[in-house]
Amino acid sequence: DAETPGYTFLRRAGYVRPLANGVLAECPPGRRMRLRLEAALREMLATWEAAEVAVSSFAPSVTEELLALARHALHSYRDIPRLFFHFAARRYADARPGWGWLRARERVGLELLALEADEPDARARAETWRAAWLAWSAQMGVSALLTVRTAVAAGDGEADAFVALFPDGDETLLMCPACGDVATRQVATFRKPEPPAESAQPLQKVATPGTNTIASLAAFLNVPPSRTAKVVFFTGQPTHADEEKLVMALVRGDMDVEPQKVARAAGMKALRAATEDEIRAVGAEPGFASPIGIQREQAVVVVDDLVAQSPNLVSGANEPDAHFLNVNVGRDYTPDVIADIAAAGEGAPCAVCGAPLRLAHGLEIGRVELLGASLPERAGVAFLTKEGTPRTPFLVRTWLDIHRMMGVLAEQHHDAHGLCLPPAVAPYDVYLVRLGHNDPDVEAVAEQVAATLVQS
Ligand SMILES: [Zn+2]
Repeated sequence: DAETPGYTFLRRAGYVRPLANGVLAECPPGRRMRLRLEAALREMLATWEAAEVAVSSFAPSVTEELLALARHALHSYRDIPRLFFHFAARRYADARPGWGWLRARERVGLELLALEADEPDARARAETWRAAWLAWSAQMGVSALLTVRTAVAAGDGEADAFVALFPDGDETLLMCPACGDVATRQVATFRKPEPPAESAQPLQKVATPGTNTIASLAAFLNVPPSRTAKVVFFTGQPTHADEEKLVMALVRGDMDVEPQKVARAAGMKALRAATEDEIRAVGAEPGFASPIGIQREQAVVVVDDLVAQSPNLVSGANEPDAHFLNVNVGRDYTPDVIADIAAAGEGAPCAVCGAPLRLAHGLEIGRVELLGASLPERAGVAFLTKEGTPRTPFLVRTWLDIHRMMGVLAEQHHDAHGLCLPPAVAPYDVYLVRLGHNDPDVEAVAEQVAATLVQS
C-alpha cells in the first residue's frame, strides 16, 4: 500500500508501521531518527534561550495555550523577548495513507513563539528564524527547499513557508521562471490586464434565456467573457462572530475566484460553498446574480479590484433569464470590500516581471508567521515599558513539521535498494552485524571492533 519510494523503504527498514486510517507507529529506528532531529533543534533553541514547555495537544489552539502561559510569565520590558516552544502532535484532515509521514493523519512538530517589544524587533526575529531554519534543514540533508510567500493559518499577518518540491504535493505553487518569485496559490498575485478606457453607459436590463454560465452568457450576447462579471457565493464564519454570513465574490468572467483570498478580504475564518436556499434568502438568483437589488445588509460583497476598475460589465439581474448591461461598480452598487480575489493560474503574468507563471506542487515542512499584536491582545498578554505604560507584545510563530521532514528526507535520500540517509539524521552512525554466531574468533574480533567504535 506504500505509494512513494521513500515510504516503501522506511517500511522495509522497519522505521514505521501503519496503524489505522493514516495513523503511523514510530518503530525504533524511526524514533531514533526523530530524536536526533529534535536534539539538533533543542541545541539551536537553547542558544536563543527559548524555554521548553508542554501544553495539552487536546486544546483547540496550542498557540492560545502558550499565550496563556506567557500572560503569567511576562511582566516588564526586562522579560522581552520571550520565547516558548513545545513539541506536539498535530492532526490533519487530509491524510493520504500511502504516503507515510508525508501525509500522515497525526504528525509531530515544533511550535515556537516569540513575544517581541515592537514590530521592527518582530520582523528581525522572523528574518533570523527564516535564515536559521533554511540553514538547519540543509544541514540535516533536505534539498530543493523553497521559501514561499503564503497565508497565515488563521487571522491577519504575513507568512513564509518552506516547501520541498514534490510531484502531487498538497501545496500548489506559482513560480516565476524569470525572476524566481514564488508564492502559494492562496496569496499568489499576478499582473492584471488594463481595463478598457470607456465612459459609463446607461444601465440596461436584457433578456438572456438559459444563460446561467459565463460561457453561455458570453456566447449569447456575443461579448468576450472579460466583459462579464462572475459571481461565486460562499457562506462564511466571521473571525470575531459566531453567526454565518453570505459572502458574494465577484471576479471578471475570464478569471476564477481564489477562496482563501476571499476569506481574508471578507474577514472570515472559514468559507464553504453557499446553498441555493442561502443565495435566494438574500434576494439573489443563482446563475443570474449580482449585488444589484439584493438585501445588502445580509451579504458581504467582495469585489476583485479589476472588476471595480472595469466599466460596463454584464452582470446578473437577480431574476431568471435576465442580465444587466453596463454595470459600473460605485454607480450601480457599492461593495463592502475591494481587493485582489482572483486566482493566479498557469501562464498568468508574474506581478514582478510579467513572465508567465508556472504551476508547481510541493510539501510544506515549516513556516514562519509574523502575527502582530492581535492574538496576544486577545489573550491579555502585556508588559510594562520602561516608562511604566502597559503595552501588547508582537507575536512571531514558527511551526516545523518534523515527521513530514523525515518523510521528505526518505524521498530525497535513497537508491534502488533502500535508504541512504545523511549522517546527521541516520538513526545509527554504524550498525555492526556479526555473522557466524558460534565462531569464537569472529566474536572476539566483533567485540573488539565494537569497543573501538564506542571509544572513537
Ligand atoms: Zn517574475
